[in-house]
Amino acid sequence: MKTKLLLASVLIFSLSCTTTPVSGHKALLLTSAATENQQGEEAYKEILTKEKVVTGTLDSKLVEEIGKRIAAVANQPDFQWEFKTLQSNEPNAFCLPGGKVAVYTAIFPYAKNEAGLATVMGHEIGHAIARHGGQRMTQQMITSGLLAGAGLTAFSKMDPTKKAIAMAALGAGVTYGITLPFSRGDETEADEIGLVLMAKAGYDPREAVNFWDRFSQAGGSAPPEFMSTHPNSEKRREHLRSLIPKVMGDYESSAKLGLGRNL
Ligand SMILES: [Zn+2]
Repeated sequence: MKTKLLLASVLIFSLSCTTTPVSGHKALLLTSAATENQQGEEAYKEILTKEKVVTGTLDSKLVEEIGKRIAAVANQPDFQWEFKTLQSNEPNAFCLPGGKVAVYTAIFPYAKNEAGLATVMGHEIGHAIARHGGQRMTQQMITSGLLAGAGLTAFSKMDPTKKAIAMAALGAGVTYGITLPFSRGDETEADEIGLVLMAKAGYDPREAVNFWDRFSQAGGSAPPEFMSTHPNSEKRREHLRSLIPKVMGDYESSAKLGLGRNL
């Protein structure tokens, strides 16, 4: 029985192992990109009805501008990009599969300028490009069985618990009170992709290290959710610093906006 199970797992793995874009890492995916994108869109629509969407402010315009610049260099023809600002006391941001991005207003003081905001958005978009949401859905399907068949089901047809877990797996669980941290490997991969994207979009990649520096001071007695899902160690900043020389060429040949405007 065990052998059969093992064989089945090996078979599933060899059939579903996908190479993620940009970094070229191998990943196990039982969901299709099309399904993930469709679920991302559904989740986004629902979140926008539950949260307060901010429009017409300089900050919300910058979120859109930066998002469009990153989208222009991200090479994701299947994404239907959208960039929204959500009013919140929680410093947070996410990008759902298919390019549905949300930035929470409380993260602006840490972002400080356009390059800081591009760091956050590039990182979150990196998770979506590398399909980390789909990988977490896959893990949930295998380990808990809770999402059995969920890869094929519309959110509207799921019971509330399954839906909340699926939302969390995709990266938008905050609204539903559930957050799942990405693995350290996923975090590193999103940092790498994000850094390339911000440099190509014209933002000084050196500001990425400064952003995480500033954000590390957001601790206090009740550290924000984003902090617990994004462990902000000196190691992370060290790794980013080591990557900067590799992306300076991309930055030098971009439109070079430096740090951009202050938020
Ligand atoms: Zn992350």
